[in-house]
Amino acid sequence: ATTLAPGLLDRLDPNQRAAAAMVDGPLLIVAGPGSGKTRTLTHRIAHLVADHGVAPAACLAITFTRRAAAEMRERLEALLPGRAGRMPIHTFHSLGLAILREHGEAAGLHRDFKVAGEAERTALLVEVLDLSQRKAERLLRAISRTKRTGAATDLDAAEALARYDEALGLRNWIDFDDLIGKPIAALEADPGLVALYRDRFRHVSVDEFQDVDDSQVRLLSLLVPPGGNLCVIGDPDQAIYGFRGADASCFDRFHHDHPGAAVARLKRNYRSTGTIVTAASRFIGADGRVEPAAEIVRAMQDRISAHAAPSDKAEAEFVVAEVEALLGGHSFFSIDSGRSDGTARGEIGFADIAVLYRTDAQADVVAEALARAGMPFKRSSLAPLAEDPAVRALLAALEQEAEEADLPQQLQRAAERLRHEGADPASATAALQRLALIAARLDEREADRAGFLAAVALATEADFWDPRADRISLLTLHAAKGLEFPVVFVLGLEDGVLPLRFGESDPAAVAEERRLFYVGMTRAMDRLFLCRARERRWRGGMVRFEPSPFLGEIEAELLAHRRTDPAPRRAPDRQLTLF
Ligand code: ATP
Ligand code: MG
Repeated sequence: ATTLAPGLLDRLDPNQRAAAAMVDGPLLIVAGPGSGKTRTLTHRIAHLVADHGVAPAACLAITFTRRAAAEMRERLEALLPGRAGRMPIHTFHSLGLAILREHGEAAGLHRDFKVAGEAERTALLVEVLDLSQRKAERLLRAISRTKRTGAATDLDAAEALARYDEALGLRNWIDFDDLIGKPIAALEADPGLVALYRDRFRHVSVDEFQDVDDSQVRLLSLLVPPGGNLCVIGDPDQAIYGFRGADASCFDRFHHDHPGAAVARLKRNYRSTGTIVTAASRFIGADGRVEPAAEIVRAMQDRISAHAAPSDKAEAEFVVAEVEALLGGHSFFSIDSGRSDGTARGEIGFADIAVLYRTDAQADVVAEALARAGMPFKRSSLAPLAEDPAVRALLAALEQEAEEADLPQQLQRAAERLRHEGADPASATAALQRLALIAARLDEREADRAGFLAAVALATEADFWDPRADRISLLTLHAAKGLEFPVVFVLGLEDGVLPLRFGESDPAAVAEERRLFYVGMTRAMDRLFLCRARERRWRGGMVRFEPSPFLGEIEAELLAHRRTDPAPRRAPDRQLTLF
């Protein structure tokens, strides 16, 4: 039995409240998009601290991106004023980094180890194994897969892996995968260390559990004893990281590690209109399951707009024209008042709009069109920040600065030197701003150069995406996970773009593309636009595309066809009937 503090859990519905109030032992929360999983997780942690006297430092929360971690910290600060600032809220990689910074010697590391970036790792392989750049890149992907999943490799690959690891060790470097693998090794070798962390983190919560891979599950099982206080939250229908070794078997592993764990289900979709929830759950097949489909909270509203443009440029112009209409207020949309929290919505701004696509390159033409129209946007992907040349340059300049001054000063000086040497001022300034922000976010234990460089190695473009800036968001579908926007455009609904094709067609890959589109659709709260182009610039040439088979699976009565593009230049063909 638990005592529910008046107030704190009042903002949850009965299912959510019941889940938040289960505070002892292992708990799995499974539910669809927009059902309040993240909200429940956050309130549950606040409830532990406020009503059960658990120390904030004992509540470890693991999110999928650093941006999601920052957002969770903010929410917790609002719920627990003054107490959430130092809560351990991490991604798996930043948690691994923190463990290695504390106990790296148990994994054979010196204190000032460095996390090698993509370019450094490639150069290392080229040097050590005398390979071409391309071969080295391919081999790195195989090495990475082996490190993450323990997948078997042939003798040659095993030999390459051993020599690569040895070369890393000689330089006191580790790679991204070691951020999980080395803490596991350190913990497995030292029961005292296991006891220390189990004692420190009495309650562990993991959001987006469906995208956790084998090695991360292993790390979790070291941090939490069987039957311990582990709460994992996820939605198997939104698993989109199979290509990186995650798979929904993490749910089986959870049950295996924690037999008899409680399972809670959330039922209502608070995020999206009835129209969007219906279309999305029929698409993913939730209807046909034993499990009931999501309960619709919000009314059926505007149909989903489908739009076929003659080209990718025209697709981008369509986005601009629709945004103009939406912001101009002459759209029926701005008078909608059917939000789940009962508030009427006001005018919409740029920040309410997201443009989502399968591959980052698709955003170039959209960015150009928005810039031409004078519309502010922010573009972000999960590409590592260190891959930005202006960043991979500023870091090199930083290495030549003396370490006496504090980090912001060192960065400032390095940037000035670059400017003197003729670096492009705009990109140098952008790089400086980003790195300065990373330096500012370090807590005092990490605020030396080694800690800073490690944090930079972990940073992705998406970390700098500011939800409050009044700009249109341009995001890859992967980077949009967990987010929501009143207005969403999903672009490039073409066969070969979404679903993307990877050589011979692999049913598992197609199923993952399907979930990726599902994630995209379910980001939309009020209005959803599905767009396609008949031809687009693609991998260096103009390529004609057929409509995505996914479009044909959206119920016709939930779709409205927009015809703002110029009349087709040729007779409509069979595929056009899909739209
Ligand atoms: P995803 O699977 O996309 O990560 P989620 O299940 O984590 O989704 P949340 O992001 O937590 O869902 O919630 C979706 C939206 O619904 C948010 O705007 C949230 O504030 C709202 N919401 C959740 N629960 C309630 C509730 N009980 N009352 C009103 N609004 C709610
Ligand atoms: Mg969520």
